[in-house]
Amino acid sequence: MSLADRLREPTKRPRSQCTFGLLLGRLEGADRKALDTALADERYTSRNIAEALQAEGYDMRAATVRRHRRGECSCEHQNKEHYQSRMKASPSHG
Ligand SMILES: [Zn+2]
Repeated sequence: MSLADRLREPTKRPRSQCTFGLLLGRLEGADRKALDTALADERYTSRNIAEALQAEGYDMRAATVRRHRRGECSCEHQNKEHYQSRMKASPSHG
């Protein structure tokens, strides 16, 4: 592919996301659900989550998980309040 081809269109970037957000967007099915659940469950530390991902071969740091969880990352956090409220209240569903 030539440079001209590469630059024909701007790269599609859905939105600015951190490493964790990108990973979450790539996962599907049970993995995605498990990660969502772990994120919202304060019994899982950010380190727990990062280590589980590392064991599966993902390059993920606890600090990245923590930042995403707190909404301090580059993601657009439409789910931010959702996560925070679920982390305080006990899950009523799911
Ligand atoms: Zn993020």
